[in-house]
Formats: sequence, structure tokens, C-alpha cells
Amino acid sequence: MQILAEREKSIYRKTSGCSFSIDCEKASLAGAVSQRACVFCGARVVLNPITDALHLIHGPIGCASYTWDIRGSLTSDSEIYRNSFSTDMKEKDVIFGGEQKLRSALKELIEKFRPKAVFVFSTCIVGIIGDDLESICKTAELESGLPVIPVQSPGFGGTKVSGYLAACDAIFKLICKGDAYKTKRETIPYSLNILGDFNIGAELWIVKDCLERIGISVVSTITGDGKISEIQNAPLAQLNILQCAGSMGYLAKKIQEDIGTPFIKISFFGQDDTIRSLWMIAEYFNKKEITDKTEKLIKEEMAKYGPKIEKYRAGIKGKKIGIYVGGAFKAKSLIKAFNRLEAEVVFVGTQTGNKEDYAEISNMTKPGTVIIDDTNPIELSKYLKNKKADLLVGGVKERYLAYKMGIGFCDHNHERKFPLAGFAGDLEFTREIHTSLMSPVWRIMEDEK
Ligand code: SF4
Repeated sequence: MQILAEREKSIYRKTSGCSFSIDCEKASLAGAVSQRACVFCGARVVLNPITDALHLIHGPIGCASYTWDIRGSLTSDSEIYRNSFSTDMKEKDVIFGGEQKLRSALKELIEKFRPKAVFVFSTCIVGIIGDDLESICKTAELESGLPVIPVQSPGFGGTKVSGYLAACDAIFKLICKGDAYKTKRETIPYSLNILGDFNIGAELWIVKDCLERIGISVVSTITGDGKISEIQNAPLAQLNILQCAGSMGYLAKKIQEDIGTPFIKISFFGQDDTIRSLWMIAEYFNKKEITDKTEKLIKEEMAKYGPKIEKYRAGIKGKKIGIYVGGAFKAKSLIKAFNRLEAEVVFVGTQTGNKEDYAEISNMTKPGTVIIDDTNPIELSKYLKNKKADLLVGGVKERYLAYKMGIGFCDHNHERKFPLAGFAGDLEFTREIHTSLMSPVWRIMEDEK
């Protein structure tokens, strides 16, 4: 299998003594069939987990096919976000403009559903014909008394990362409209906001539970299981903890610059990162009671899950692993988890990593590892085959590629139903990897070869 010449610089093969260099943070190559989604999808995945908001897509119906059913996230209360609303623009709207259709849709939906806020996403065609989202949302906001926030996300306007930025701008606008921001109230002692966890399989609740057990109050979760009133209270927290830095790093910096809330990067994937993150949070608050409770929690959780996780190590040790995920923070946590399990990571790629991320990934991996930005199915299959990978960790777009190639697969994306965060999540992850690698189907395949 050959690689397109234009893609060569986005692939780094780690060899001893070779200096690190990779091309990334740029638009996908036309015709390369990138695994990435568009700007609108980037914005949608970040904002859609806000549960009591209404999410309206201004564009043709095809854009709206990216629904909650594809990118599920869990809620503890409202279910409005599970609906998919679209203005369903047709040829006539493209020629004469879709503004009236958007006004009518907003009026009808707000009256019918009475959400706590509305996000209006622009799509490719809206970016081209120039419907004035800002003024329509402003009018709807004045008429309804609800925050109605435009999300500037025409699909062609950049990469998926541009969609993350558009979503962060929209969240920041929402925060600025809240009383906590306007009145500059006192912060709540020993409190924080969780940024960049989307509660796909209940992992946010695991993290929240750990924090509450060590005496920290969670003011808001942005955006997994997010609620408008809580997000607007975000300025009341003393710290922001940032999990997915790729999607929410921009918001964390914006809040720090404008409101003054500091942030620290954490990760609750894998027991090592979980322990490290809990200690970082405890050290930040520097209170004896929190330190003692953190020590107790780690001891209890390790005693409960540690031996069970160890049980699976022997089956995983020495296996060759490929990783292809959206964000680099997840890739780094996965490398650490596999290093601890003594598996060999032979391939690591992300959709949205930057140069610093890839340099860090290069430092964490062994010579021989292939590091790749914004890959496609041809490249993925070439290197998985080349490196004789036993298992691929990825998302829905990679699942069937792995199955067709006859290698194991672990879903670390949005179709999974079990949480992979914290100590309990680490056990689930290890068990899943072990089950996939040990499946009797591989013996049958060997017989057939
Ligand atoms: S916004 Fe553009 S690229 Fe994205 S789904 Fe819609 S038409 Fe496709």
C-alpha cells in the first residue's frame, strides 16, 4: 500500500537519534478521506451534552444527521438535548435566504419546549449565503428572555478544532450573560468546574464522586451533563480542571484571562493519571482535610480495584497496540495505561493534536513507533498491518476497519456504554482490552490462514 506524497510529512516514524518533526494543525488533504469531522461537527460535539438547552442546526437536513444517537452523552435531569432540530434548508432558502425560516423555527421551538437556552449552529451553506445569525439570535433573545446564542460553525471554515473554538466562544458568551459574571460575586471555597469531560458513559459522575469524597464542591460540568444555570455559575468556582485540553483549552484560557480563575490540566483515564490528578487538585487547595481524604480515597480505591486490574496484566503483556483517537490528551493517557500493562504501543495517531502534543507522544513511546496526524483508512490499515498490531483503540469510524483486518478493537469513543474513567473505569478498560485480545475468534482465524 502506498501513501500519498502530500501526507508523508504528517507521519513520523520514531527511530533512535532521528530528530522529531511532524506536520499537523492544518486542513485535511482533499481526497485523502480523513477520519476527521467538519467545523460544525466539532462545535456540535462540544455543545450537545448541555442537557437543558435546545440545539438548533440552521442548514440542510444532512448536517443534522449528526445526532445524540450517534454521539450520546448521559443526563441526570433534562432530556431536551436528545432532540435534533434543523431548519431543513432547501434550494429556495439558499436562493432567497433562510433568515425567515430560522426566525419561525426559533419562535415555535422556544414556545413548545421552553428550554433554558438555545444554541443556533451555522453550517456550510449559511456561511456561504451569509444569513445574519447574530441579529436573529439577538431578537429572539429579547423576545423570549432566554439566552439565544449563535455558534459560528460553517463546516468548510477550518478543521474540527475551529469548531471547538466556536463552541468555547458560545459557552463564554453564555457565562457572560449570567448573574455570577455580571455581579462578580464571591467564589465558593474549595470549589471547581470540570471542563472537557462529556459524560459519554457516566465517567463524569465517577470523577464528580471522587471530588466530592475529598471535600471539593463541583460548581459546573462543561459540558457533560451540563446545565445552563450551573454553567452560568462557573465564575463562582476557585479552579477549573481541564480534561480534554484540545476541545476546551481555549475556554479555560479565556476564563483565566477574563475572570481570573486558574486552570490545571488533569486526566482521569488510567489509575496513574487518576492518582496524579487527584493529588494535583489536593495540592492546589492545600488543606489538610482534603489531603487526608485524598490519601484515604486513593488507598481504598487501589485496594478495591488494583488486584482485579493486575489479574488481566499477563494476557495483555507484550501485545502490540495501535491507538487512533480524536484528542491528544486521550492518546497520552492511553500510552501510559498500556506502558503500565507492559503492552507495546506501535502506532499512535490523533485527529487534532498539535506539535507539542506529538513531541510529548514521541517522548513517551519506544523507537519503531509510528506517530501520525489526521490519518485515513488506507494509512491506518497499512501501519496496523506493517506493525503487526494485535488491537486498535479508536472510535466508530475505526471499529469496522479493525474487524475487517481481523484484529481486536476497543472503543474509546462515543458508542461505548461503560465508563473508562477513574479507578472503576480503569478496571473496565483493562477487562475490555483483555477480553478482546483473548477472544477465541483469533484462534479460528489463525487456523484459516
Ligand atoms: S456543515 Fe458542511 S461539511 Fe459539515 S455536515 Fe454540514 S454540509 Fe457537511
